[in-house]
Amino acid sequence: MKVEIIPCLFDNFSYLLVCEESGKAAIVDPVEYYPLSRVIKRLGVELTSIYCTHHHADHIGGLDELCQEFPGVDVAAFKGDAARIPRLTTLLGDGDIVKFGSVQGRVKHTPGHTSGGMCFLFGGHLFTGDTLFGAGCGRLFEGTPEQMYNSLQSLTKGLDAGVKVYFGHEYTLANLKFSQFIEPGNRGVIARIADATTVLAGGGTTTPSTIGLEKQTNPFLRCDIEDVRQKPAEKLLLDATDPVSVFTAVRRLKDSY
Ligand SMILES: [Zn+2]
Repeated sequence: MKVEIIPCLFDNFSYLLVCEESGKAAIVDPVEYYPLSRVIKRLGVELTSIYCTHHHADHIGGLDELCQEFPGVDVAAFKGDAARIPRLTTLLGDGDIVKFGSVQGRVKHTPGHTSGGMCFLFGGHLFTGDTLFGAGCGRLFEGTPEQMYNSLQSLTKGLDAGVKVYFGHEYTLANLKFSQFIEPGNRGVIARIADATTVLAGGGTTTPSTIGLEKQTNPFLRCDIEDVRQKPAEKLLLDATDPVSVFTAVRRLKDSY
């Protein structure tokens, strides 16, 4: 499977997944019609599936026009979001398998940013929408900190360090500045800030990252580490022995950073 990264709007990403064996393709997050339609035509692939990570307007803005241009395309999202994502043809639940061409993926329900958040794992490629960002995680609009903590833990648990992480927004550099505030002594964070700065200055993107890099530099995946526990404990006077409390505090600090 090949992945095309398609920057959309101000800082969103859509992804076009291509099954090289069959020439069939799938979209993760139909953010905007024109950039996606253009890439589909340029590559000469057949769009068969659209996977939606969640219902927010900046992730599904191209859905109507894509469905008009490619009638018969399968549109899949969380089953609980049928009333707020139009044109759904497949209702998904946690652990479901999705297929396009000869490519198969597994669906993970990750409530927290929204109640219907979904992530998609195709082999060594993980698509995380607004659940897991480069060095960050989504804001908690419809979920509790405990839900988001559990979503992130179950999403990343057991995955190889080399699995690529494709997220929904280019927020990585700003997130890394917050990582550095939480863990000033984390050399991985310092190195990643330098890398991200160079990549962005050259017009590139920080997506995809890897599970290994996230576990090393993303404070929301490091709530059991002493240095991460210290800062929120000292700022918010909380119980720093419980990872969910630490996560709650880190998220609160990030919201006002
Ligand atoms: Zn969102």
